[in-house]
This record gives sequence, C-alpha cells and structure tokens, in this order.
Amino acid sequence: MEKILIVDDSLLQATHLKDILGDEYDITIAQTPEEGLRQAHIGSFSLILLDVVMPGMDGFTLLKKLQEEIITQSVPVILITSLSDVESEQKGLILGAVDYIVKPFNHLIVKARVNTHIKLYNYRKQIEYQSQTDQLTGVANRRQHDQRSISKWKEATRLQVPFSICMFDIDRFKLYNDTFGHPAGDKVITAVAREISSHLKRTTDFFARYGGEEFVAFLMGDNSEKAFEYLKTIRQAVEDLHIPHNPEVAKWVTISVGGVTIVPQEDKSYDFYLKIADAMLYDAKKFGRNRVVWADENIKQMREK
Ligand code: GH3
Ligand code: MG
Ligand code: MG
Repeated sequence: MEKILIVDDSLLQATHLKDILGDEYDITIAQTPEEGLRQAHIGSFSLILLDVVMPGMDGFTLLKKLQEEIITQSVPVILITSLSDVESEQKGLILGAVDYIVKPFNHLIVKARVNTHIKLYNYRKQIEYQSQTDQLTGVANRRQHDQRSISKWKEATRLQVPFSICMFDIDRFKLYNDTFGHPAGDKVITAVAREISSHLKRTTDFFARYGGEEFVAFLMGDNSEKAFEYLKTIRQAVEDLHIPHNPEVAKWVTISVGGVTIVPQEDKSYDFYLKIADAMLYDAKKFGRNRVVWADENIKQMREK
C-alpha cells in the first residue's frame, strides 16, 4: 500500500481525511509540524497532505523546509486549508505544492486529486530510475556514474579520505561472442556485473556499467593496499563463477582490473584519475589478463601475479 502523511493540528480534520483515503492508502497522521517533518524524513511517503494554519510553524514554512531537503523534496505536497484567498493559494503553489485544496472539500474530488498526484509521482520515479539504470544488467549506467562521480569526488576531497577508482573489462570477450553468440554474451555481462556488484555493497561503494563489457567502480576509505587486495578477491570471484570460455584461449571467463587510490586534492580531477585507472587496466591486459594492476598515491604500480 502506498503511504500518505497527513500533517494537521486538528485530529478531527486529519481523521476525516483518513476516513476518505484509508481504504486505498496507508495513512500516518502528524499533529504538529515538527512531527510532520520528522515523519517525512523517516517514512517513505508517496504524498503529503499539509494543513496551512497550525500553531508555531505554519504549513508554508514546513513546505519550504521539505522542499529544501534532498530526502523530502521529491515527495509531492498538497496543501489543504481553510484559507481561500488567492494570495495564499498563489504562495503555496509558488513554494512548490502540487495542488491546493480549500476546506470544506468534496470527498470524491480529494480522492481523485490524491490518486492523480500519486500516479504522477510513481511515473516520475520510474522514469528517473530507468534513466539511471543499465537495462541489460540492472546496475547503474554511465549517466549515473557521471553524476555520482562528481558528488562523491567532492565529498572525498572535503573529507580528505582515500578514494579508489577502478575499471573492469571482460577478457577476450569478442571471441566469446564469436564462439557462443551475442545472446550468450549478454548473459555473461549480466552475471559478471551481478558478481562484482555483490562485493560492493557498502553505502559508500558505487558500481556501474561503463559501456559494452566494461565496468567502473569507486570506493571510499580504504588505502591502496587494502583496495588492491579487495579487488583481487573480486577478480577471483568472477573467475570462480566458472563460466566456460573458448578453450583455445581460456578455461573460464575472466576479467582484468585496473585501479588507483588517492586522497583527492583540489588541483586534480576525477577524470584525471579515471584515465590512470584505465592505463592500469591497459597494463593488466598487457601483462597477460585475468589480473589486477593498481596504482598508489605516487602512481607506483602494484601487480597481481
Ligand atoms: P580484451 O581481452 O583485450 O578486452 O579483448 P576483448 O575481445 O574483450 O576486447 P574488444 O574491445 O576487442 O571487444 C569487446 C567486445 O565486447 C566486442 C563486443 O562485441 C562485445 N560487446 C560489447 N557490448 C556488448 C553487449 O552489450 N553484449 C554482448 N554480447 N557483447 C558486447
Ligand atoms: Mg573493452
Ligand atoms: Mg574486453
């Protein structure tokens, strides 16, 4: 059931709304603006119905606060109020409310408006999700990588924590396609993506399909030795999937991995180090594939095997 938050200092009004919407939605009532703000942060609501006239913080102020914060700003807010003047309605809509309903209201109209806004909200969420997700594998796509890398790089620069950038590439994959066919190749890309991402589950980890049979990840907090060791276990885990390759080149499908760990400084960009990770990947291929090559702070190379 979709969740709706009702913020209204009058329990009578809130219960009245709950009676109208309770059959179709899971309703939470907050009787103070402060409680409303708290609930909006912790619950995953599809809509907020907000009273305007409340003691202390009024609905407009609460709406402004909701709009300012990343967790709550995408949740649609409908103002429900006895203020029927044009100025109040204008103010509410300019502040970002999706709709404005004046009391006393008609039950069916409230229900219809709520349904419409929840439908639009879900539609928008779906589109946002699709635009950020790789269709084949279900992991993040290149677009999401481009956005997240900027914000995470800034965060690591501010916090001065080690940041690792890592590139992965499936070995001799053209030959795999030529031998087993493109649809089988697609399954391998998916299986490899799942395996790698299952090892990158910390909230600070990020993993994406960069394109074709290439992937990219970034990790925060670990120094270069630790990151290097961890990526070796991931590389091994992919080999241990035991996906048969063309026996003329290899027993199993494997990946090569290149990466770099640095504490970000203001004068160097994420892209600069992404290129270094890519150069390490190139070396991993050159030295024989199915291995990790890593660069530390001083771009000193560590090689597996
Ligand atoms: P290397 O070990 O040097 O990486 O050799 P490789 O054959 O993997 O490298 P190359 O870059 O020559 O070939 C990559 C291949 O990946 C070519 C392309 O057919 C295949 N590929 C890229 N995207 C997809 C995809 O979405 N599905 C499938 N099945 N294959 C793909
Ligand atoms: Mg490639
Ligand atoms: Mg390849």
